[in-house]
Amino acid sequence: MGSLASTEQETVERAAAEPLLDQVEAWAAVNSGSRNLAGLATMAGLLADEFSALPGEVSLVEPAPVDAVDGSGRLVPVEHGRNLHLKVRPEAPLQLLLTGHMDTVFDADHPFQATRWLEDGVLGGPGVADMKGGIAVMLAALKAVEAGGGVPHLGYEVVINSDEEVGSPGSASLIAAAAGGKRAALTYEPAALPDGTLAGARPGSGNFSFVVRGRSAHAGRNPEEGRNAVLAAADLALRLAAVISPTLKVNPARIEGGGPNNVVPDFAILRVNLRPATPEDEFRARTLIESSAATVAGEHDVAIDVHGGFGRPPKPMTTEAEALFTLVRKAGADLGQPIGWKATGGVCDGNNIAACGVPVVDTMGVRGGKIHSAEEYMIVDSLKERAALSALTVLRLASERP
Ligand SMILES: [Zn+2]
Repeated sequence: MGSLASTEQETVERAAAEPLLDQVEAWAAVNSGSRNLAGLATMAGLLADEFSALPGEVSLVEPAPVDAVDGSGRLVPVEHGRNLHLKVRPEAPLQLLLTGHMDTVFDADHPFQATRWLEDGVLGGPGVADMKGGIAVMLAALKAVEAGGGVPHLGYEVVINSDEEVGSPGSASLIAAAAGGKRAALTYEPAALPDGTLAGARPGSGNFSFVVRGRSAHAGRNPEEGRNAVLAAADLALRLAAVISPTLKVNPARIEGGGPNNVVPDFAILRVNLRPATPEDEFRARTLIESSAATVAGEHDVAIDVHGGFGRPPKPMTTEAEALFTLVRKAGADLGQPIGWKATGGVCDGNNIAACGVPVVDTMGVRGGKIHSAEEYMIVDSLKERAALSALTVLRLASERP
């Protein structure tokens, strides 16, 4: 400590004094599973009230239309919640983007619905770390910066989406538009490790559905006239998995289709997740998908429709990103918080922001762990720590006059 200017010191103290824990407890009590539209609407309302403390006008933006391949191979619409959007001083020369997500992985009927104290200073609960704690941290930092008279030459956008845990299909365009022209972005996923370590490089991720249509026939009388869609889907799964490497993970997750034992099946769907480490690996994966589908369609005499895409582009550690990480690390050091970063296998909206050419630190949220499980927890002290870290990071970014 001790390397803070007096305005910095005042700002981080204001950030840490915000009612962070009260907010997390209130928000975690609302189920906001990505598919719980009613819960998401309640959550969006609570957030809109709180974020209206900032300058600018909060709006709740309708999601983009999204469809998915159902079990019969048809494209069906999928509903998502509205997304919170706030623009503050859009005319200011220096612009930042801050993002978070209000949804959780816990559906309305999941048994994990309430917070409870696991031990002194450790709060368990759905979304406490991922990422209702992070949203509280973001808001506290921004309020603290604004309360100090603000920074007139600094503007920012806030996006809190409602579908991050399902890949942000309805909010990706909003985030991409908000990323345009930004000096840097901060996203409030929980720290990669409970000690506060940030997530550095991330792979990309793509989900694909291969709809295979063959021809049915009697399994005994004329099987040669059939075109077995299940067999073709299995062949495709093996071909895709054959290229698995440390920089391209391929997970054939599910084959649906088929029917009675005495019928050559004419229909199957293969669902696959692919995780390329770099843009080159993503390109390789795209080529592989195209060529494997064409080869299998030819050899098995079936039709294959490919649906899906790489919703999360790879996020390598660029020079610009490293400079931003270094700025955050320095802010942490000045606050007495040692902070490092490491590559992780997970993906988030930070992937998409980085793909817009904007450097992003996407784990500015709380310290905690066991996320996406009923043992999820948040280390309560990290609320104040991280609010201070974010406030200082925003001030330091603002001090780089463009
Ligand atoms: Zn998350």
